[in-house]
Amino acid sequence: MNNQDTIIALSTPQGSGAIGVIRLSGPDAIALTNSVFAGKDLEQQASHTLHFGLIKDGEQLIDEVVAGLFVAPKSYTKENVVEISCHGSNYIIQQIINLLVAKGARAAKPGEFTLRAFLNGAFDLSQAEAVADLIASNSKASHDVAMQQMRGGFATELKGLREQLIHFASMIELELDFAEEDVEFANREQLKNLVNRISVVLRRLIGSFEMGNVIKNGVPIVIAGKPNVGKSTLLNALLNEERAIVSDIAGTTRDTIEDELTIGGVVFRFIDTAGIRDTADIIEALGVERTLEKMKLAKLIIYMADASQTIAEIEEQVKGLKQLQIPYLIIVNKADLIDADRRKALESMDAVLISARDKVGIEELKVTLLEQVNLHHINTDETLVTNVRHVEALKQTENALQRVMDNVDNPVTSDFLAMDIKQALHYLGEITGTVTTDDLLENIFTKFCIGK
Ligand code: GDP
Repeated sequence: MNNQDTIIALSTPQGSGAIGVIRLSGPDAIALTNSVFAGKDLEQQASHTLHFGLIKDGEQLIDEVVAGLFVAPKSYTKENVVEISCHGSNYIIQQIINLLVAKGARAAKPGEFTLRAFLNGAFDLSQAEAVADLIASNSKASHDVAMQQMRGGFATELKGLREQLIHFASMIELELDFAEEDVEFANREQLKNLVNRISVVLRRLIGSFEMGNVIKNGVPIVIAGKPNVGKSTLLNALLNEERAIVSDIAGTTRDTIEDELTIGGVVFRFIDTAGIRDTADIIEALGVERTLEKMKLAKLIIYMADASQTIAEIEEQVKGLKQLQIPYLIIVNKADLIDADRRKALESMDAVLISARDKVGIEELKVTLLEQVNLHHINTDETLVTNVRHVEALKQTENALQRVMDNVDNPVTSDFLAMDIKQALHYLGEITGTVTTDDLLENIFTKFCIGK
């Protein structure tokens, strides 16, 4: 990894826009820009200032631009950073980047600015990951969670606990050094106490992942039901546009239909159910492994029936759903085709009566969907884990700490104890990107000066 060079990339999306922002980071960012900039001497300007000028390739004028200066270490990457706002033409952008590359800048690799920010200690790994989540956030809830994580999130909470654990690790290492003398530096009761406290936090964080994941990736929903009951029509009504193919011929909905809908700040994601839709009978479908796997991805299954069916028929169909142990919602469609008596009969069952074609009952259905997934109480002030890598590391930490608890009262297993604590530290450290072994060694030496 070469951090001594100066990298350059377009930081706004590809394609024409009113402006494009080209970013440079590295020791020569300001000097390089200055070498093609006509207006004033950028190297003599203060940090956090904007400067109008011309970008010129020799005598040829490329564009009128505004250069924003961030002098190290007061920048995103903690290096010298220049942001050149130019007119958003692909041609201009390419010309400016080519020119600066010719002067000595290097085209940045994906994520390299944020990588540098992390390597230069601007934030920890979990915060760097949150930057990506923030950019990808598409609802209020996912934005709130990413923002919270970027500003420190649960990593801060873990850091304190981790430091206390490092202390115990050093004590136990010491015991191992003095193994002959049978001394106990690490108080076992205090250790148990700390492990318990950490475990409580770990369990809460691991438990929050289900919600965190749903917020980040959307609530996965499957719409199931026999062909021609109106599943595609409902999806269209929900999405309020004609995206899926609607047809009278049973089983024609073949294309992958995966779409997103935001209700009350929560993203609902309709997962690809072409296989399920095509299957003649949901009960039969339950026998099909592939279909089952897909159904299992859902947090909620919408089972659609036709109002011309009897209650007994509908109940017979949903019997198989119960085995899946995934919450489901029965929707009876084509309410426009039935008379008042039949409507009354259907209303007696636990189902939502709609007419997808006439868009009747859709708003009520949206409210029911929100209630069903139980997300209306989202409290994004609470720390939520949204990242699979983090939740895996948390689980590994929990396992290692469980082993610590299993061994803590056994005097002959100090080595195991030390190993398991180290593992727990390693996994906790993985979340924030800390190098565990260095930490541990440093901690021992600075506190005890054993080598003296
Ligand atoms: P799918 O196979 O379950 O996806 O069903 P489609 O959405 O393709 O709909 C099948 C047929 O039922 C189409 O002709 C729709 O126009 C019709 N349909 C859908 N919803 C309604 C409704 O609420 N009332 C009536 N009368 N027809 C509907």
